[in-house]
Amino acid sequence: ATTLLDGNAVADRIRDGLESSVGTLREVGVTPTLALVSMTESGAARTYVSMKQQACDAVGIETEIHELDPDKPAATLFDRLADLNDDPGVHGVSVQSPLAEHVDPRAAARRIAPRKDVEATHPENLGRLQAGTLRYKPPTPAGIQRLLDAYGIDPAGKRAVVIGRSETVGRPTATLLSGRGPGGDATTTLCHSRTEDLAAVTRSAELLVAAAGQPGLVDGGMLSEGVVVVDVGINRVDAGDAAAGQVVGDVDFESARGKAAAITPVPGGVGPLTVEMLLYNAVDAAGRHSGVGVDLP
Ligand code: NAD
Repeated sequence: ATTLLDGNAVADRIRDGLESSVGTLREVGVTPTLALVSMTESGAARTYVSMKQQACDAVGIETEIHELDPDKPAATLFDRLADLNDDPGVHGVSVQSPLAEHVDPRAAARRIAPRKDVEATHPENLGRLQAGTLRYKPPTPAGIQRLLDAYGIDPAGKRAVVIGRSETVGRPTATLLSGRGPGGDATTTLCHSRTEDLAAVTRSAELLVAAAGQPGLVDGGMLSEGVVVVDVGINRVDAGDAAAGQVVGDVDFESARGKAAAITPVPGGVGPLTVEMLLYNAVDAAGRHSGVGVDLP
């Protein structure tokens, strides 16, 4: 039988642990505080911000919502980030993507103080990921590692294939999976939009991570028997389709399930862990800034 990798269940356990970490900090007068910054017309972005806010509420992390007018110049965002960097009451800063089209996300990332960069998008933190001197792990790749670990799936020595090379998801996932030590040590291939004969590569995978944002990109015919499938994709089905409004991944779940030893559902796979790992970084940041040693789950 195929194991369903239940992200909600794993996220629940991490949440309980974070709640107690936050309790430790609050006992000594530190209120972990996360600033959620957005500057966008995207409805999806608004949904993500409110999901993050609710998750913070659930563990006792204070949130500050900074919803900036997407018609204003980029400097409005940059000035706000400078203020948040200087604010000793704010431990972590999360800038929600997508930003308004006229704002360069890399320029925004450069303006977050690296020690408050809980989404791990600042070049210093991207560099630390490569150098193996991590401060914060990017939430989605960290969530993928946590999910695999919770099910006793060790990537070490396995042939891992990652589809997608974004700076926040695909590329850092490949970096972590190929890195030395727990959660890593896989022989990792990174595929992207210019990959030729994707199916030939995915068939070689013992562990497949799909993060392309293309519904149905991977089906059972592209997989080998016994593969572990982690589907990161979050795609809303178009109006007009029978499943309109539903969220689907990059993997055709029904055909993939026939081949896979384990597979994530969408929704309920990687998504809940991404949120929880952002909170994890925020609590970690609060501990670091205040010099309070705090155990993290
Ligand atoms: P992105 O658009 O920045 O990157 C997509 C990547 O996929 C690109 O590198 C591109 O080269 C590659 N790609 C696109 N089409 C391809 C194809 N046909 N074959 C091979 N590679 C292809 O997206 P992103 O920010 O990395 O997000 C990827 C997906 O993951 C999206 O659906 C997004 O909504 C989702 N996401 C989920 C979570 C989560 O927590 N579950 C978090 C972040 C993003």
